[in-house]
Amino acid sequence: MLAAYITHTDCQKHDMGNHHPECPERLGAVNDQLLIKGLLDYMEQLDAPLATREQLARAHSASYLDEFAEIAQQVPEGGHVQIDPDTNINEFSYQAALRAAGAAVLASNLVASGQAPVAFCNIRPPGHHAERSNAGGFCFFNNVVVGIRHALAHHGIERIALIDFDVHHGNGSEDILFDDPHVLMCSIFEKNLYPFCGDVPMGANMVNVGLPTRSGSEAFRQAVSEVWMPALEKFRPEMIFISAGFDGHREDDMGNLALVEADYEWVTKQIVQLAQRHAQGRIVSCLEGGYDLSSLGRSAAAHVRVLIGAD
Ligand SMILES: [Zn+2]
Repeated sequence: MLAAYITHTDCQKHDMGNHHPECPERLGAVNDQLLIKGLLDYMEQLDAPLATREQLARAHSASYLDEFAEIAQQVPEGGHVQIDPDTNINEFSYQAALRAAGAAVLASNLVASGQAPVAFCNIRPPGHHAERSNAGGFCFFNNVVVGIRHALAHHGIERIALIDFDVHHGNGSEDILFDDPHVLMCSIFEKNLYPFCGDVPMGANMVNVGLPTRSGSEAFRQAVSEVWMPALEKFRPEMIFISAGFDGHREDDMGNLALVEADYEWVTKQIVQLAQRHAQGRIVSCLEGGYDLSSLGRSAAAHVRVLIGAD
């Protein structure tokens, strides 16, 4: 049984304009490193399907889905429509967003049913800033939450952990999941950085740790060991989803946590061991941020190598 690697060429057509950090080349940077390091030899590559309205509606309000579909229709050929100051769409963005959420659904199905031990989704647009009724922070559909809600609805799973190590807090995931007794969300993020929230958790199922700027490896690992792990052990997740953002790397200008590849490798190891103890090893990981192309590719490869057990 091979690990699943899910992506789609449509995800590269979404383009928010010249010099936007959330650029199409990000997917290639990740794919190239997985290829060069030989990791794709151990993975089955699959095309992401389009998420359905029913699947998206488990994470988003009907009015938001209608509104976004309508705005997407109005994009002029070769042009953009602005959604928020940082986030806009071109004529291919809607299709790309449907593929990104669809990847999480396919990953959810494969891993929950035992057809793949783990899955990694190399996707964009990212998702963890997308709230129930709002796009923002380069995100439109909350891919990882769509995947989680699909597993809860279709696979008889009762407890899912969402682990978010992107440098930015996953405010969208928190907004959708804070009252969900079936989900425990663990987030480590840099304080006083976009989206400027998370310090006060919205619900008892949120384990948020804001770290000061330039905290570095030791503080990050300490937060994982001392705050995340006791909560996760108590929760005993039957399946784990990861919002895998690599913008906390010290070479990435979007954040300043000063992490390195070894930290992503280490945290993935902790998650894999947790999954083996409680969740039959079942993990779905979805790409979120990471904007310095070189450190993004290297960090994602370090993460995937441990995720698929090639370490
Ligand atoms: Zn981020």
